Amino acid sequence: MKSLLSAIRLQHFYGIALRRTGGDIWEDAITHVAVAQFIDGKITVVLDEACASDDTREAVLRRLQDTIGDVPLVLFSSADIDFLHASFHAMYDNKDRASPFLMNECWDLQRLASTLLPVISFATLEELAVYFTFPEGENPASSEAVILIFYQLIESLARMEPRIVSQANRFLEHSKSPLKRILRGLADYIRDGKNIHFIFPEVQWPTPAPNVIGVADGGFFSDTIHSVPDSDIRRFFSPQGGLSRSMEAYEERAEQTRLTVAINSAFNASQHILAEAGTGTGKSLAYLIPAIHWASYNNALGEQVVISTHTKNLQDQLFYKDIPLLARTLPFGFRAVLLKGRSNYICMKKWTHITADAGSHVQPQEREKLLPILFWIHRTRTGDISECVGFQAEANPGVWHKLASESAYCQAQRCSRSEDCFVRKIREEAKQAHVVVVNHALLFSDLVSDNAILGDYHNLVLDEAHNVEKVAQNYLGAEFSLWAVRGLTSKLYERDQTETGVLIQLRQKLQKSRLSDALQSAFLSQIQTGTDACVQFWLAAQALFQRLTTEALRKTEFAMQGDKAVRGERRVRYGPTDSLLLRVADDVDLMHEKAVKLHQALDVLSETMRQWPTDAMDGAEEMRDLIILRTDELDALLKTVDFLTEGANKDYVYWYEMPPKERSYDMRFYAVPLNIADILRNTLLEKLKTCVFSSATLSVAGQFNYYKRRIGLDAMRSEKVQEFTADSPFDYKNQSRILVPTFLPEPQSPKYNDACAELLKRITLETRRGMLVLFTSYQMMNSCYYQLRDPLNAAGIPLLMQGRDASRTQLTEHFRRERVSVLFGTDSFWEGVDVPGSALEILVITKLPFEVPSDPLVAAKMERIDAQGGKSFFDYSVPEAVIKFRQGFGRLIRSRSDRGVALVFDNRVVTKSYGSYFMRSLPVQALRMPSEEVLMNNLTTFFSIT
Ligand code: SF4
Repeated sequence: MKSLLSAIRLQHFYGIALRRTGGDIWEDAITHVAVAQFIDGKITVVLDEACASDDTREAVLRRLQDTIGDVPLVLFSSADIDFLHASFHAMYDNKDRASPFLMNECWDLQRLASTLLPVISFATLEELAVYFTFPEGENPASSEAVILIFYQLIESLARMEPRIVSQANRFLEHSKSPLKRILRGLADYIRDGKNIHFIFPEVQWPTPAPNVIGVADGGFFSDTIHSVPDSDIRRFFSPQGGLSRSMEAYEERAEQTRLTVAINSAFNASQHILAEAGTGTGKSLAYLIPAIHWASYNNALGEQVVISTHTKNLQDQLFYKDIPLLARTLPFGFRAVLLKGRSNYICMKKWTHITADAGSHVQPQEREKLLPILFWIHRTRTGDISECVGFQAEANPGVWHKLASESAYCQAQRCSRSEDCFVRKIREEAKQAHVVVVNHALLFSDLVSDNAILGDYHNLVLDEAHNVEKVAQNYLGAEFSLWAVRGLTSKLYERDQTETGVLIQLRQKLQKSRLSDALQSAFLSQIQTGTDACVQFWLAAQALFQRLTTEALRKTEFAMQGDKAVRGERRVRYGPTDSLLLRVADDVDLMHEKAVKLHQALDVLSETMRQWPTDAMDGAEEMRDLIILRTDELDALLKTVDFLTEGANKDYVYWYEMPPKERSYDMRFYAVPLNIADILRNTLLEKLKTCVFSSATLSVAGQFNYYKRRIGLDAMRSEKVQEFTADSPFDYKNQSRILVPTFLPEPQSPKYNDACAELLKRITLETRRGMLVLFTSYQMMNSCYYQLRDPLNAAGIPLLMQGRDASRTQLTEHFRRERVSVLFGTDSFWEGVDVPGSALEILVITKLPFEVPSDPLVAAKMERIDAQGGKSFFDYSVPEAVIKFRQGFGRLIRSRSDRGVALVFDNRVVTKSYGSYFMRSLPVQALRMPSEEVLMNNLTTFFSIT
């Protein structure tokens, strides 16, 4: 251990294990600190203390500071490092939070692990310790574990092929990454021919998940379409059938069999079917089995089934659980492919360029972010960047854009890497597949690109179908922001720490060209004109957005306090005569003018290159194609700007969004077509033989009319569209109770928030049950959070809230792990949170989830309904809210053994006429609770029955 660490000059350091109360570096309390020292190859624990009170905490922190001096530290995460900074800061009561009380060099195990093992996400030190097989019986969250895991990670790095280590070193040139020191030390050590004696066995990479399952030539061969007999489907679900042999604890469910037979009939009769079935029915197997049968019986005639989900969770469940189960169960082979949009896959050609010449493609600070990709790319079978969780493509869109496959770029290239191109391979696999699993986003981007991705398919299953309209809106509309300009200009020319971009690559290639000095010099001057035009365009766009933000703030009286909007609207609707557009018209024109100059400069470059002899410059044709490609992108961008700044198409609603933060110019402009239904019907539903709409929440008060209207099914022949509802397999009467505390003030009352917070506090402290609270506004959620935080903290009950330090997935995981905790969430927490068991026994729905009527899109939809003679409140607001309400309620009971209580803190469900729509959408009768005592008694009685 000593020699390897001396190689990287890290003979002396401390490993620190911290325990704290939650996920907020400024608010958490520290409960335990353990410190182990590594020196001269020995590990010794030097501090191990609980912090029971503020006094002991301060004493421990002071001892910690005295112990560590200025020696390097290893901690679990960057949040722990920030937390230590914050703790020292709080101890010294310094108002300037940026004061560096911790000057030590700090290493973050989580980041190191996510760089070297980028396919796994380690949320806790325990998880890391388990993966690194920390000795059984030892405390996996100890300070010794921190040191040992750190050492194993260094060993993993030392085991990498030398060429990967030197590539990593090249990526880190000019970077301040602490990894640079390790890599340099290791490279020198290896170069000096030193043998490394490894102490630990090699860390195993998990087997990468496949994106192709099964065989392409399975199924049956016939030249006529074959119906699938219901009996062929039913037998899998019988007690002696295939599923009972493949699944442990399989139970036949009559509703699941009814559902699957109904779906099979829809395939046979070329019908669409609205299939509503609650959690626990087994919807996915109920559509997968008929879908796979249909595609296999008729595959020789080109039949395949596309299955689309809204969420990644469901997509993963289908592809990694249900489909492999069926591959083992069905008596014939079939092929299933998981297909994502092109931009999810790394382009090997771009990667080749970047590894060969990172300097002219990516900025130094971006190169460090590429390290996880460097360690991943040699092992991936799919090239799907979501596998490489250490990179986090969504958090690094600028860097990812430089690596992701792009349709236009791809067409523009005579690709030398097409043999190992991930996009080409998976698309070819998809053509041969019986079943192709996609998400709604891909489905609609395919729709707007004339089926360029999925080709001509006839059968579709839309799962989580209640989200279809919202996703379609996003893809059928238009969007413009400063980032769109940045995305384009940075590909052409970017000057940050260094100069990068196509124009710089062109300049470098020119120096090695075979052109005469005179031609080189003339072309260099054309490149300079291009870079100047690119900079000017970017500056004009920045100026436009600065002006837009200033004018919009003035116009809307919107203001920021910290990161919170305190007045006015964040989303503002506009039209062709909007005063904001008139005020910035000159700035728009100026940006346009600069864009035209850039266009001209790029045209000159491509025209000059066209006239060159073929051997004038290596890679000239490819560079010219790239210039033309970016010129086309500029054209498309300007068309979008024109469309959005005119704001004149009456079939669209236009709005802009104020920047999310103070001193930001990140305003965004949107346009969305108002009539999604007609577009969906004409471009998708009319062309399909069968479309299965699957969801737990399609109907409102037992009727599908609302959903059919929204997506265009109402205007199709009635015999083309079937409706089916499966009863829930849960015994809601015995498993759940729905209580409405009618003693709470009306939601509009100024006393409402405080009364809710008080009631939440009492319920939490007296029942001590896992509780999910669903809000409709951040403002109310924050207000309740601050009223509950201290009392719950004192009672040892973690209070978790959306938007505080952790992602939705991390928060849900934390909530699931705790025996008793409280989770606060808005919007996205109303659906998709799946926490069975005792971690979620109480569900609180605060206000009824009506959409905000002043929201531009909502307002425009409602106006349209009213203009057409409808009643927008009853025809739109109520049904939308009912569907969301049902989704929210669905979080409570997730299995047949779950028990729980739903509390509806909005007494409009019993006082208003429309309340009956909500109540009739629930599986059991809600009980009115006239007083707090009655409510508490009900809760006690319910939870006393086991
Ligand atoms: S074929 Fe296209 S996506 Fe694939 S590596 Fe080549 S350029 Fe990239």
